[in-house]
Amino acid sequence: MTIKHDWTKEEILEIYNKPFMDLLYEASSIHRENHDPNVVQVSTLLSIKTGGCPEDCGYCPQAARYHTDIEGNDLMSVNQVKAQALRAKASGSSRVCMGAAWRNVKDGEEFDSVLEMVRTINKLDMEVCCTLGMITENQAQRLAEAGLYAYNHNLDSSEEYYKEVISTRGYQDRLDTIGNVRKTNVTVCSGGIIGMGESNDDRAGMLVALATLSPQPESVPINALVPVEGTPLEEQAPVSIWDMVRMVATTRIVMPETQVRLSAGRTEMSREGQAMCFFAGANSIFAGDKLLTTPNPDVGEDMEMFKALGLHPQKPFVKKSKPESVEATESKFLNLGEKPKWSRPSHKIERNLEAQKKSKTSL
Ligand code: SF4
Repeated sequence: MTIKHDWTKEEILEIYNKPFMDLLYEASSIHRENHDPNVVQVSTLLSIKTGGCPEDCGYCPQAARYHTDIEGNDLMSVNQVKAQALRAKASGSSRVCMGAAWRNVKDGEEFDSVLEMVRTINKLDMEVCCTLGMITENQAQRLAEAGLYAYNHNLDSSEEYYKEVISTRGYQDRLDTIGNVRKTNVTVCSGGIIGMGESNDDRAGMLVALATLSPQPESVPINALVPVEGTPLEEQAPVSIWDMVRMVATTRIVMPETQVRLSAGRTEMSREGQAMCFFAGANSIFAGDKLLTTPNPDVGEDMEMFKALGLHPQKPFVKKSKPESVEATESKFLNLGEKPKWSRPSHKIERNLEAQKKSKTSL
């Protein structure tokens, strides 16, 4: 199938606004042409370093400047990560995604430890993904050499709406990190969040940014905002299931070969709602009772849902073969100790400043 890369916002909005049944039918047909509709990839998301993040993402309870109830922790040990990965594998996950609440990766002991975690999980014959913030080309190469399968770096929203949610880094920084990952053989996972107060135009704008990348991301997570008390977006109204299905279906149509991932917000969706999302082209989920810090359905419940729908978890390395993993002592890449200057646009977002003022722990 030829992939279209010159999508415009108008074309994507036209798809998003189609009569619901037409949209569902078209998305489901494209889904069947490109994927087995009864197979869903299951990932386990592991927060390897929680809280204390210097960024001001308006949706995130891990930002140090907002007062939320999450318990922070320092970087987990390689052994702790291995134990969790084994548990994830036993419960049917083919991928472990390790998330650290960092603005960007800094060369040194902690990054070396993450590289060791990547090697360890790769040896368990699981796909390894990391979401560690902004990374340089050298860091992407070192992750690739350790055996990383995917790197997640979400665009979150359209370029215009991004400025309403985050002031501590720019959209171009996100694209630059994705570009750095693309210089390696690591696959790209990048998506966004709906329900942050953005318009349908912004939703389409985010999909333009993703669908015009060449190649398109191999994986696109679609999150529904989980409003967390203490964050600037704590009072956002819940996303309707109709919007979620429309977003999934539109993503499927404009990125036919991509794995579309149902991410945060699944606890608010009924099984029927999730079944509609699978029909519309979602073919990946996060499993485990926590998604970094927000709630997620229990694995047992998910497996019951799979049984009811006749779905099967995807085996690892179906879409791309297992990456080789090079030991640290054999590495071809030096630790450069770079200090890249990622941008700090520092524009003002009133509600973020308000939330910071309310916080007992403002920076
Ligand atoms: S989303 Fe990531 S970068 Fe933003 S505050 Fe949370 S942990 Fe930090």
